[in-house]
Amino acid sequence: MTPDATDADIKRVVQTIESIGFKAHPMPGTNRTAIGVTGNLGPIDPSPFSDLPGVAECVRVTKPYKLVGRDLKHDKTIIRIGEAELGGDEVAIIAGVCAVESREQTMLTAEVVAEAGCRWFRGGAFKPRTSPYAFQGLAEEGLKILADVRDQFGLRIVTEAVDEPALDLCERYADVIQIGTRNMQNFSLLRRAGQARKPILLKRGMSSTLEEFLLAAEYVMAEGNYQVILCERGVRTFGSHARFTPDLSVIPAAQHLSHLPIIFDPSHSTGKRETVIPMARAGVAVGADGLLVDIHPYPERALCDGPQALLFDMFREMVEEVRAISKIVRRHRDVHAATA
Ligand code: PEP
Ligand code: MN
Repeated sequence: MTPDATDADIKRVVQTIESIGFKAHPMPGTNRTAIGVTGNLGPIDPSPFSDLPGVAECVRVTKPYKLVGRDLKHDKTIIRIGEAELGGDEVAIIAGVCAVESREQTMLTAEVVAEAGCRWFRGGAFKPRTSPYAFQGLAEEGLKILADVRDQFGLRIVTEAVDEPALDLCERYADVIQIGTRNMQNFSLLRRAGQARKPILLKRGMSSTLEEFLLAAEYVMAEGNYQVILCERGVRTFGSHARFTPDLSVIPAAQHLSHLPIIFDPSHSTGKRETVIPMARAGVAVGADGLLVDIHPYPERALCDGPQALLFDMFREMVEEVRAISKIVRRHRDVHAATA
């Protein structure tokens, strides 16, 4: 739409698209609104809406992903919840526990995250574990503890939904719902996430290509939820010195193709405490919009992923270093928009 298109102009285009049986996806940008059209199986004739008031141009998107791409929307998507922002000028740090194990462990950690000036808290109440005998999370009890973290510290809560019933619960208690690496192609869960009215943090499948990753995000957006955050969390390679291999090259590549923010998880991608800070620094240097980091008050007793959890002092050091680097890489410039 043109920059001066009115709400009524936008509404008329949406109604016209819907009247011919397609789905309209209005997405506001900084200066103008883009309206995606899906539901068509092949190229469509734009003449029913190309001459409507406020329409600037009709662009055929030839890439397999339509709503996720820069062809449709040039401006970066920024996720805002109250004062917390992700995808904007500052690097967002989402830190917390891998799993909510107890009120004490979670509150101690949240205090450190808030004191470091971060605005987002992570913690799993439902854990996708490789072994069925491993700790699976506190479920709703854990979500209640996370809701108390928000009340007490003002932090925004990111938590994982492992299946549809869990997603129903997470939607009630959390601010952002995470879909884990093992569920990146769980299409029914992605569709359910697309019906949620909370942002979705989508982790890259540990062996998925960038195109598969973007198409997973497209599943969420196709249902009408445009608030998606991508997350690189390491992929499977022949490297055996780390749990996974952080693929930092996917960050600028994703930013080039997509307007969605992309963050980096240095904890799950390395699996080792001593490599988390160096890789977090690198992630910010390549332009990640944020970091997702595990910390723990006593990692030797953690019920999940203790070896990768930063100690509190290490976390404070990481936050300082990352802030310094983000200034140097001038986060306010979206270099990809101009070249898309
Ligand atoms: C997590 O963030 O706790 C998690 C399980 O991550 P991933 O899905 O990347 O393994
Ligand atoms: Mn974990």
